[in-house]
Amino acid sequence: MYDKNNVFAKILRGEIPAKTVYSDDYALAFYDNAPRAKTHVLVVPRGEYTDIYDFATNAPSDFQAGFWRAVSATVDALGLRDNFRTVANTGPGAGQSVFHFHVHIMSDDRFKTDF
Ligand code: AMP
Repeated sequence: MYDKNNVFAKILRGEIPAKTVYSDDYALAFYDNAPRAKTHVLVVPRGEYTDIYDFATNAPSDFQAGFWRAVSATVDALGLRDNFRTVANTGPGAGQSVFHFHVHIMSDDRFKTDF
């Protein structure tokens, strides 16, 4: 169940400030306020989806396409084309703490973990 008062909904409504990297009709990208990499940005769709499963299941295809283009536009705005990771934590067990779907974009000189 989507909570309209989650922190990213408040950022999208302009009720809480965020350091914007990229914005369009589909998504807003801003710096994570507790970065875990040299560059750590969140891309948040302008729609009420709790997680990637909800988004992939219920968002209209043109909105999904627009969101993923916003992810790549954010990567371009950051100049990270050849050195970034994306993460979408899903569910409390996997570390999701904000239940408005978002993709983490992270980049560092050298990641400590290999998948
Ligand atoms: P997750 O744990 O995958 O749900 O990711 C939520 C992320 O949101 C965490 O990395 C937090 O540091 C970040 N975060 C929470 N509140 C804010 C905020 N007001 N501005 C920017 N990032 C935030």
